[in-house]
Amino acid sequence: MKMKSTEEKKPIPIEIQMIPLLLEWYKKEKRSLPWREATSVSNTQRAYHVWVSEIMLQQTRVEAVKPYYTRFLEALPTIEDLATVEEERLLKLWEGLGYYNRVRNMQKAAQVIMEDYQGEFPKEYEKVLALPGIGSYTAGAVCSISFGVPVPAVDGNVLRVISRVLAKDWDIAKQSVKTEVEQMLLETMPKDAPGEYNQALMELGATVCVPNGIAKCESCPVAHLCLAYKDGKVLQLPVKSQKKPRRIEEKTVLILKGQEQVALAKRPNKGLLAGLWEFPNMEGFLNTREVLDRLKEQGVFAIRIRELPMAKHIFSHVEWHMKGYLVQLDETEMKNLSKKSREKGDSLKEAKEYTYVSAKEIGAKYAIPSAFAAYKPYISN
Ligand code: SF4
Repeated sequence: MKMKSTEEKKPIPIEIQMIPLLLEWYKKEKRSLPWREATSVSNTQRAYHVWVSEIMLQQTRVEAVKPYYTRFLEALPTIEDLATVEEERLLKLWEGLGYYNRVRNMQKAAQVIMEDYQGEFPKEYEKVLALPGIGSYTAGAVCSISFGVPVPAVDGNVLRVISRVLAKDWDIAKQSVKTEVEQMLLETMPKDAPGEYNQALMELGATVCVPNGIAKCESCPVAHLCLAYKDGKVLQLPVKSQKKPRRIEEKTVLILKGQEQVALAKRPNKGLLAGLWEFPNMEGFLNTREVLDRLKEQGVFAIRIRELPMAKHIFSHVEWHMKGYLVQLDETEMKNLSKKSREKGDSLKEAKEYTYVSAKEIGAKYAIPSAFAAYKPYISN
């Protein structure tokens, strides 16, 4: 009988075999992106750049992020600038990206970095993870890319790639699965190139191992290792359980305008789009008569009203379905309302007490959430 040799080699796990292949592929194929360019900056600056780009990339596509990223860093080139900028200006810089709490948290984190770390971005993973608004993914990305700390950065792209390569039918919506993948990558992370490896995994997920059945397996550097490809399961993986259906809210949005000024209201300081400016709106779909009556109750008198197209905006848990009206106000009344709103300043307590500003001021100063994007063009026509 042949004795099993203790020398007999165990097969190298796929998750280890793929490391050099992905690093090699990434070196050749990586996209040139603004946050990957600045090599001659300090580690703190690099961490700041990676952090800004990662937070922005959590909410929109790479191409859409580029102009925001450039504009943001031109306006706030250092962590100190972010820590000290006035909130209204900060929100204006974020306008269009949505999830405004993320940038508010970035400012809080920048303030912690200024106070507790003398303006130097901490490089220890645990310290970065403890900053406001930074989760394991962002902490992993910043620490590995900026400081070479061997920690993983697991986002949806990475979960998809790993699930497919290992043909795992686990539910990637579950935190336990994310933790398991993080642990596996932590144990196998190449110590000499953690930032490159994390980016290689993300890049493969973003450009080759893409979702929705259009993965480009023929040009994938790890296709010969990939179990989903081998077993014909690429279309079935990854498995992601559906979230609860979104709640639908119906609203009537009003562009109340005189010749030059438009009414804005400030949202409450808590909840969805907290503290941001918005166009006046009312719950439910109202008809013309109902709108005019409601305005009258608020002491606002219209001389003309025109219905605008319907619009929809999707948040993570809620969907707004909106009906709009362009309401022309009497000029004499506009003057009174403007005077009143100037006297009240920004300390408006009730949504019905509007602030009247020009379209130019809106462009320069007031951040209007993209939920209202469909109605924004009507402020100047
Ligand atoms: Fe993804 Fe296809 Fe590459 Fe597998 S072979 S990792 S499914 S792109």
